[in-house]
Amino acid sequence: MRSRQLKERWEDDNEMFLKLNVKKRLIPTLFGGIIGDVIGVPVEFKERDTFFIDDMVGYGTYNQPLGTWSDDTSLTLCLIKNILENGTTKDLMDKFDAYYESGYCTPFGQMFDIGRTTMDSIVRYKGGSAPAHCGGRSEMDNGNGAIMRIAPLVFLMHNEFDFLKKVKVIKEYTEITHAHPRAVVGSVIYIELLLRLYHNRTLRDALKDIYELFHENFDANHEYIQELSHFTRIFSDDFLATERSEILSDGYLVHSIEAAIWSFGNSDSFRDAVILAVNLGADTDTIAAITGSLAGMYYKMKDIPEDWLNNVVLKEELETTINEFYLYCSDKAVKDTYGDWKK
Ligand SMILES: [Mg+2]
Repeated sequence: MRSRQLKERWEDDNEMFLKLNVKKRLIPTLFGGIIGDVIGVPVEFKERDTFFIDDMVGYGTYNQPLGTWSDDTSLTLCLIKNILENGTTKDLMDKFDAYYESGYCTPFGQMFDIGRTTMDSIVRYKGGSAPAHCGGRSEMDNGNGAIMRIAPLVFLMHNEFDFLKKVKVIKEYTEITHAHPRAVVGSVIYIELLLRLYHNRTLRDALKDIYELFHENFDANHEYIQELSHFTRIFSDDFLATERSEILSDGYLVHSIEAAIWSFGNSDSFRDAVILAVNLGADTDTIAAITGSLAGMYYKMKDIPEDWLNNVVLKEELETTINEFYLYCSDKAVKDTYGDWKK
């Protein structure tokens, strides 16, 4: 009896620790992405070094007030809500369509930003295509529109060590808008990187792991290995020493991942990472959103400037949704780890 009680107490402590760990990472990862989006919105499309910002500001490119977030956050929220509702990818496409048509999950009920490939996929969906066949398949469809919205997937997989199982899920959520194999490889790199930061791996080791995982699981002729060659730069040991002028910050998936990893790796705080990313110019909101997620996962909530957080439009509503998602994911983490033995 006594050993049973001790075991239960031990399990309770571990469950609590696991839940706290999910909370400690999930909230700053998601808010980190949102804040990056917000900071990038006013200067989106601006050419590098024609501007400099070192704080959250309003207006600019879309003439939106301080704290306004864009499609990166809206489509991420669609995914979170869909997971909370146990929705299918078809339900998720309905949410994307509602975003596009009627401003679902936007700060002021109005959509003002959407990527071409994502828009094309919504049009195909409305034309009757199944979600798995909606995404763009050409080489020109390799924008950053999938990686900007998939960070929540990390918290469904915190304890999944089967690489191929993860690839399957990541592919399913990527190909609804971006179906070229390069887009899938980019999404896998991004999610695996976040997962490894969750498990306290260093950036260098995490990238090494990811490179090896691809080569251990796919042979040299596999399309994913062929596509991985486009991402070669991030896997080289001296990538972070790359000159700023060699880092491109347009919406091409490969460039966006490079820019985010370079900004994250060349800074010592959440603030510096996001500011470094935004000032690269061009696709500022998405690159800063991806950088913000990586930096949020790594530096955690204590390092996210409070004034930035407080400026975010609909902050309380976002907090409620993210908190609900944390509870969902932490319950799942406990069930995945300990099973349902108490019930
Ligand atoms: Mg955007």
